[in-house]
Amino acid sequence: MKFKPANNIQDLQYFGEFGGVNPSISDSSTYTFLSAKTMFDTFEGNADGCYLYSRHSTPSNLYLGEALAAMEGTETANVTASGMGAITPVLLQLCDAGDHIVSSRTIYGGTYAFLKNFTPKLNIQTTFVDITKLDIVEASITQNTKVLYCESVSNPLLEVADIKGLAVLAKKHNLKLVVDNTFSPLSISPIKLGADVVIHSLTKFINGSSDTVGGVVCGTQTFIDELRNVNDGACMLLGSTMDSLRASSVLKNLRTLHIRMKQHSSNGAFLAEKFEQDGIKTVYPGLASHPSHKLFKSMMNEEYGFGGMLTIDVGSLEKANELMELMQHKNLGYLAVSLGFYKTLFSAPGSSTSSEIPEDEQKEMGLTDGLIRFSIGLDNDIERTYEEMKKCMIQIGIL
Ligand SMILES: *Cc1c(COP(=O)(O)O)cnc(C)c1O
Repeated sequence: MKFKPANNIQDLQYFGEFGGVNPSISDSSTYTFLSAKTMFDTFEGNADGCYLYSRHSTPSNLYLGEALAAMEGTETANVTASGMGAITPVLLQLCDAGDHIVSSRTIYGGTYAFLKNFTPKLNIQTTFVDITKLDIVEASITQNTKVLYCESVSNPLLEVADIKGLAVLAKKHNLKLVVDNTFSPLSISPIKLGADVVIHSLTKFINGSSDTVGGVVCGTQTFIDELRNVNDGACMLLGSTMDSLRASSVLKNLRTLHIRMKQHSSNGAFLAEKFEQDGIKTVYPGLASHPSHKLFKSMMNEEYGFGGMLTIDVGSLEKANELMELMQHKNLGYLAVSLGFYKTLFSAPGSSTSSEIPEDEQKEMGLTDGLIRFSIGLDNDIERTYEEMKKCMIQIGIL
């Protein structure tokens, strides 16, 4: 049977304590016990259904975690205060001093900076590779490698990882395949393709209203228990805990994710095709010209499309800035980082979200000055949006 992530979310039933159609929010940081023995057992993680302290777990956080686990098809999940608050504990849990990570070189700037500048202080080394070349990935694996790390669709270059192929390598060399699926929720289900751990920044499409940061780690019960262990769990001890009020609001937004993703994707596909026809250098996984178009197609849950992210190259940073300012002025979107908002967002990654990556390395990976990253919004009339964007491009002389 086909994996149906949105159905899995919808089939969950949570009720509030008075029969409310939404679960009650647990507005407490600490919980009382009738017996001291139960308190001890709860601290040790041996009393199911009991809560001790909100950094450990809360009913609201568990509801959201279970819904995200249902979406990704994992046994369970742990929600965190941000996407980075999910990525960093996972890597620190899986690696000890002396260990090695093989990572895609085109990843979120914060993740890149963590692996490049921070983990070496703990003697955890990373080799950055072109993740689309499986032979190079395999050649980079050493005796100390513990983790293969990638994004299903990479930020900002929209390279697509061959998750099945990477999973075969991970199995062969006894590594954990960790996939950041932030750019392609619902469209790609990494666990079904063989990944071991799936991470999201909930800040982006999943929450979708640009009003909070959040993150999640989806994995096996054993791995999530390890992350939450009071003695040596990285999620527990590094303390990047989500607040219950936020967990409850993210859960409510998650329920419309399938509708939003379809709209983001169809708008993204429409604009990408038009821009490409106009002769603008456009990267979108849904375009036949994308080097990994077929690969994405072979992995995707088709009904959600190729996502809402696309890039165009307008030749120079000056032109990119000029175009973005003009589009914002015409109310076609906002000059802002982040993604997944109802409104189109655009930014020049080389000077913003990927500025952690040194210039020469940016060049090597194809991250050019004139690149604009778009997170296409939920516009009801995308044809009008296109016509207006085209006018802006003509006005600044790139069309
Ligand atoms: C934004 C982002 C992150 C970091 O998430 P935060 O919620 O900002 O901490 C990680 N990975 C990707 C692909 C992202 O876009």
